[in-house]
Amino acid sequence: MAFDSLTEKLQNVFKSLRSKGRLTEEDVKAALKEVRMALLEADVNFKVVKNFVKEVQERAVGQDVMNGLNPGQMVIKIVNEELVKLMGSETTEIRLQPGSAITVLMMAGLQGAGKTTTTAKLAGKYKLKGKNPLLVACDVYRPAAIKQLQINGEKQGVEVFSMGEKNRPADIAKAALEHAKKNHNNLVILDTAGRLHIDEEMMSELQEIKEAVEVHQTILVVDAMTGQDAVNVAGSFNEKIGIDGVIVTKLDGDTRGGAALSIKAVTGCPILYVGMGEKLSDLEQFYPDRMASRILG
Ligand code: GDP
Repeated sequence: MAFDSLTEKLQNVFKSLRSKGRLTEEDVKAALKEVRMALLEADVNFKVVKNFVKEVQERAVGQDVMNGLNPGQMVIKIVNEELVKLMGSETTEIRLQPGSAITVLMMAGLQGAGKTTTTAKLAGKYKLKGKNPLLVACDVYRPAAIKQLQINGEKQGVEVFSMGEKNRPADIAKAALEHAKKNHNNLVILDTAGRLHIDEEMMSELQEIKEAVEVHQTILVVDAMTGQDAVNVAGSFNEKIGIDGVIVTKLDGDTRGGAALSIKAVTGCPILYVGMGEKLSDLEQFYPDRMASRILG
């Protein structure tokens, strides 16, 4: 999975730290230089790496660490804690409306990021939690996307609302909400249209949906394989339409994983879930502490 190479490099750095017993300030600096290289090679954002190493260094060359019984272990512990902090510390849940009130989620993202798949994955998760989801096909440009949502919805045993390709996404969202009210769906998930690149038309379409219905949470889906582009995409979406959280897909793949480590620090938006495969069950809630442990191996 992602991070394999980062894990291996960090483990090598830590092995040599552990074997040293007493550490000098130079030892710590040399080790952190290698940590810095490893993070950059994992495609973590340059500024994020710089701040990260600075924080760790300030803490690690402190008196308590250097004079402690096992300074190597202390440095590793600090790296672990700072990694957790980098990814947002706490697990962030998608905020649902209280009681039986309908929650509307709008899924956004570029074409191919995994939006339609993730929409169906999320519906399955919430169905298991007792919700009655309605998936809404607002991607009116690609008939294949509507079909894909219908197939995935069926697999999940979740209803899919579609009006074909002839209507405006904002009108479809409005009609879907009426449908949800009548049919007691309490979670409406709008699958919107992506584009190959960020463009004004896509943003104004999302804005129109937001004006037509009350969207409670806007969730951006980004592809980990695109590395720092995913971070830039998250920044742009957040600036233009405001996002409440990010789902990072394809972390199961051969990606270097830097996007997952940079998104929160660069954009301020928390990661909610990570996609770990193509199957509809391959969606994991994001726990910064577990991810840090996974990275450190
Ligand atoms: P959309 O254009 O954003 O709606 O993207 P799709 O949902 O159609 O997904 C694009 C491709 O990525 C499909 O082949 C999906 O099976 C695949 N995909 C989505 N999420 C994941 C994931 O977490 N891991 C892997 N390996 N593939 C994924």
